[in-house]
Amino acid sequence: MRNMDNNADHTNWITCYVGLGSNLANELGSPTEHLEQALAMMRAHEQIREISVSSFYASAPMGPQDQPDFVNAVAGFETTLTPYELLAFCQQLESMAKRARLRYWGERSLDVDILLYGEAQMVEPQLTIPHAGLGERNFVLIPLRELAPSLAIAGKSIDDYSQSLDWTGLRLLSGD
Ligand code: AMP
Repeated sequence: MRNMDNNADHTNWITCYVGLGSNLANELGSPTEHLEQALAMMRAHEQIREISVSSFYASAPMGPQDQPDFVNAVAGFETTLTPYELLAFCQQLESMAKRARLRYWGERSLDVDILLYGEAQMVEPQLTIPHAGLGERNFVLIPLRELAPSLAIAGKSIDDYSQSLDWTGLRLLSGD
């Protein structure tokens, strides 16, 4: 796949979706606060506009079960950042939350993944779009469907992923 950063167009606004997750509090805040702080950074970014945010959800961890539930949400926005610039920004958000990963698939203060970048489809060592886990994760698909129910993902509708859309391990957090 071609590297889309070679064709950067900083006047073209692309609709993107990112998934956010946290299940580790630290001195900077609770999991919910980590998500709120990341969203505030998105709102402050001059190359990001038209942000919409799903409800916040609690989800059972995918890896080791002896860790707290995650708080998850999806944000949709338009951006002039290229895919790799957006990846760098997502990683900056993770660093700002003082991300510590204690073990593989374990608890983390903040995870920010690019789910979709316009119609882009790419598989590169550092970046796979649509995100590789998108089709299997109800804590991604359900908030994504909330924001964009008629979205097409690589030619399929969100409802085509229906087996992933049950609520096992997932619950809506009130007040968000
Ligand atoms: P994670 O364990 O989710 O934090 O994975 C981090 C790594 O996944 C990073 O080093 C990225 O280069 C890579 N990666 C591949 N595709 C994506 C994507 N769509 N969004 C975020 N990170 C990605």
